[in-house]
Amino acid sequence: MHTDLAALFIIFGGSGDLAQRKLYPALFNLYRKGYLKEHFAVIGTARRPWTDDHYHEIVMTALDNFDEDQATKEAFVGHFYYQSHDVTDAKHYETLKALASQLDEQYELHQNRIYYMAMSPRFFGTIASHLGSEALLTADGFNRLIIEKPFGRDYESAKALNQELTQTFDEDQIYRIDHYLGKEMIQNIVALRFGNGLLSGVWNNQFIDNVQITLAESVGVEERAGYYETSGALRDMFQNHIMQVIGMLAMEVPVNFTAEDVQREKTRLFRSIQPYSPAEIKQNFVRAQYAETSVDGENKPGYQQETNVAPDSQTETFVAGKVMIDNERWCGVPFYVRTGKRLARKETQINIVFKKTGVNIFADDKSDRSAMAPDVLTIYVEPEQGFSLTINGKEVGQGFALKPDQLAYQYDEQMLADSPEAYERLILEALNGDGTNFTHWHELAASWQFVDAIREVWDADQTPLPGYSIGSMGPKEATDLLATTGAEWIFDPTQNN
Ligand code: NAD
Repeated sequence: MHTDLAALFIIFGGSGDLAQRKLYPALFNLYRKGYLKEHFAVIGTARRPWTDDHYHEIVMTALDNFDEDQATKEAFVGHFYYQSHDVTDAKHYETLKALASQLDEQYELHQNRIYYMAMSPRFFGTIASHLGSEALLTADGFNRLIIEKPFGRDYESAKALNQELTQTFDEDQIYRIDHYLGKEMIQNIVALRFGNGLLSGVWNNQFIDNVQITLAESVGVEERAGYYETSGALRDMFQNHIMQVIGMLAMEVPVNFTAEDVQREKTRLFRSIQPYSPAEIKQNFVRAQYAETSVDGENKPGYQQETNVAPDSQTETFVAGKVMIDNERWCGVPFYVRTGKRLARKETQINIVFKKTGVNIFADDKSDRSAMAPDVLTIYVEPEQGFSLTINGKEVGQGFALKPDQLAYQYDEQMLADSPEAYERLILEALNGDGTNFTHWHELAASWQFVDAIREVWDADQTPLPGYSIGSMGPKEATDLLATTGAEWIFDPTQNN
């Protein structure tokens, strides 16, 4: 069915949460679908002194949700090896190298290697340096580095990390994961944009009034407070995921649908984002924190009351902003974005809001277009997946009132049942050497520079953050952000739409 891809995966952080919740199920999916057959092996490394048997039990537990028979699972798990490893200890890389060479021969892996950094980002640079200095990279096969977020915490630290990585790996060997780029409907954006004459013709400032991107979470900070306190929503969600969604929605048509061309267009786009002065940042970006809220008679803690959060924390759990792009296609079109924790619903949605017709011939005053709803193309990213086009029709009956109607297409559950999860898709793409859905250093550099300017203004401003109620869609300031141009957020689950 599929070619048998040969590779050795070395997973740094093999005992961690990401490995267990995402990577092992993703690899198993590739196995049961026939992408990985006999010619693969996985070395999990972490500090704990586990045996291979214990590691097998851990990997097996990660497959609990699969209905496959035990024999298939055992055959898969048999490809896993554990290596206790302190990533700062050069000697451990020698042991790792010996095991890697042995598995390479045993499974006929053609010296193909994928190094997966699934551990604390502070070790990314160290691991890459040791992989180089202890000569783990092979001469004949491919050597690819998959690296998790966060990639730095500002432009300078990201640049330093990139310099460390590129001592050992070339840019085209580095696969920087942004798992949003592995989502079905985010990948679908290019199909919608470049596969439809109807849409490609109107995808510009002549026809589009504004673009809205919402990445809403209903959960709070949970057990990630330690990390979140040093990050906040701007770094955790905006710098990477939201910027990448803007990239997919707004980049120019790539010459070819290849990594090189797509990454080039996204980089060009990010460089075209209008830089803001400090005053403009205050005007165009809003931050806030979820506040203690009584929900159904029960008091839910606000962010500052959460475990491991400083009681006077200024970390934002919500960001909304207006991003402007200074190029021929987009000048004048605001990209409104927002993301936050403890919002009304977990949902990711994109709304492309089209301009209204010039006159409203159905109104007494033809210049009055207030009763006319804008046409909206909505892309439902998650949990529902699909799209809809809201356009005006005639209200059935006497008279001539306009009424918005929706042409909607939802992927049904059956269709999605076997659709690859983001990590499964991205790992396969990395195995195939396809970097289209990974981020280039130049994209990251531009996006960090934009974010750093916001961070600097916010860090210098001691005004307490506005609060928002748990279960809302953020503070009033996020609504006001749009009101200045007469627009409003299309997605508002508090209104039951
Ligand atoms: P984790 O804390 O659960 O796991 C860390 C792993 O690193 C463990 O296996 C631990 O044993 C190992 N480790 C720590 N110090 C070590 C050392 N000195 N030598 C050898 N091994 C060492 O972390 P996680 O949640 O799995 O996250 C891993 C990476 O993935 C991070 O970069 C994180 O930001 C990113 N990430 C995680 C998720 C997620 O859902 N967990 C989502 C997106 C990105």
